[in-house]
Amino acid sequence: MKNHNCKEILSKVFQALDGELSREEELNFLDELNKCNHCLDSFEIEKSFKVFLLNKINKSECSDKLVEDIRLKIQSVNLDEEEQS
Ligand SMILES: [Zn+2]
Repeated sequence: MKNHNCKEILSKVFQALDGELSREEELNFLDELNKCNHCLDSFEIEKSFKVFLLNKINKSECSDKLVEDIRLKIQSVNLDEEEQS
C-alpha cells in the first residue's frame, strides 16, 4: 500500500513546474492530487495547477505567467499556514 505524503506532493509540485517530472510521473502526480483534498485545499492550487498539469500532459501551451502564478500561490500558502497555526 502506497503512503500518501502531502509534503512529498508539494515538493513534486515544484518539480512539475520545473518540468522535471516525466509524463508518467505527471499523470501519477495528478492522480495523487485528485485523491487528496488536503493537498488541493491546503495549497489552494487546485484550479490553476490542474489546468497547468492537464495542459502540460496534453502538450498544450503553458504560459510562464501561469507557472509563476502557481509558484507564488504555493509560497504564500506556506507562509499563511505558519501564521494560522
Ligand atoms: Zn495530500
